Amino acid sequence: MINPTEVLQSFEGRMKDFIDGENFRKCIQCGICGGSCPFGFYTDFTPRRMITATRAELVNEIIESNAPWLCTSCNLCTSRCPSRIPITDALIPVLRELAMNYSHLPDELGQALTNIHRMGNSFGESNRKRAKWSEGLGFDVKILKKGEHVDYLFIVDDFGSFDLRAQEITRSVARLFKMLGIDFGILGERERSIGDHVRLAGEFGLFEEIARSNINEFRNYSFENIVTLDPHAYNSLKNEYRRYGFQSNVMHYTQILSERLQDLMKLMHPLNYTVTYHDPCYLGRKNGIYDEPRKIIESIPGIKFVEMYRNRENSYCCGGGGGGIWYDSYIRKFVKTRPAEERVIEAGKTGANVLLVSCPIDAIMFEDAVKVTGLEGRLRVMDISELILESIGKGV
Ligand code: SF4
Ligand code: SF4
Repeated sequence: MINPTEVLQSFEGRMKDFIDGENFRKCIQCGICGGSCPFGFYTDFTPRRMITATRAELVNEIIESNAPWLCTSCNLCTSRCPSRIPITDALIPVLRELAMNYSHLPDELGQALTNIHRMGNSFGESNRKRAKWSEGLGFDVKILKKGEHVDYLFIVDDFGSFDLRAQEITRSVARLFKMLGIDFGILGERERSIGDHVRLAGEFGLFEEIARSNINEFRNYSFENIVTLDPHAYNSLKNEYRRYGFQSNVMHYTQILSERLQDLMKLMHPLNYTVTYHDPCYLGRKNGIYDEPRKIIESIPGIKFVEMYRNRENSYCCGGGGGGIWYDSYIRKFVKTRPAEERVIEAGKTGANVLLVSCPIDAIMFEDAVKVTGLEGRLRVMDISELILESIGKGV
């Protein structure tokens, strides 16, 4: 039985722990958040209504509703909120944390969190399989030994390590690094989840445990930079791990490739595609990386690049962030069209025959959406790294 007063006090207490957390009291009820949200029509409480409910001392009603979970942490509401309320990093995760305290959470989410806690990855796989993606590449990917040095520590994170589609992207990125002579290495079975989805899902305690343990592990190696293909891993390593003392330079693989474009351009051959590009929420809107992926795409010979209507800071969501990919079946129960389906339809309308991504979760979500929306055969989903490799002519 939920005690409304107790829940309200917990909510108010927790919001104080976040930078600008108390700004929720400054909400002007403009409704921009609900109007921006992919789930604005389906959720029982938009962020605006969540805040009204806190004023009416009805936080208990929010945590018993679908609202904490009909959010995929796209950050669009936060980026547009005139009262600078940290909706995505604080308001919703705090409500999720409270909902979880009363066992109101999608079953699949509970399973993924248990897997991370027990096994160190959301797939519930043995970490001994972490480096399986690197088999059959035709070259060895260095698995770092304690004390060893590399220029780039390559963090793959869970999807790139264990999901079959995402593994293809990890292999493409590794192949490109190899071709460019980049000195990189991985942690293999000593890599664990980075945890950005755990944090956004409201499991703050588990996230802190993961961050501290990963930082301790990183201290065993010598490296100049961390590079990752996963925008959520990038975000946590760059912004969230700082709170626990982590200082290293963090890069997304598109930043490295855009620095090495002159070398790549010598290797590429013309392709005859019209392509569009989806800005991942945690690379673009959250971290401002819009130009590097476009610079790479525009340098691929023969490619015609067209923008979708919603691009850059207004980019739409794939529906997989903040744990959404784990509880897709819960989301399906409440929405007519999932965000990924809307997005591939939008991509198809540009006339593009390739939808480019720079995030393994996007590739998984959009490939499924292409099948559901009947766009199969007309719209191909590719990671930027895969298109470069096709242009180089090595296949992926
Ligand atoms: S956008 Fe911000 S200020 Fe406007 S209703 Fe939403 S939370 Fe309140
Ligand atoms: S972060 Fe995105 S999905 Fe979540 S409430 Fe805001 S706009 Fe909606």
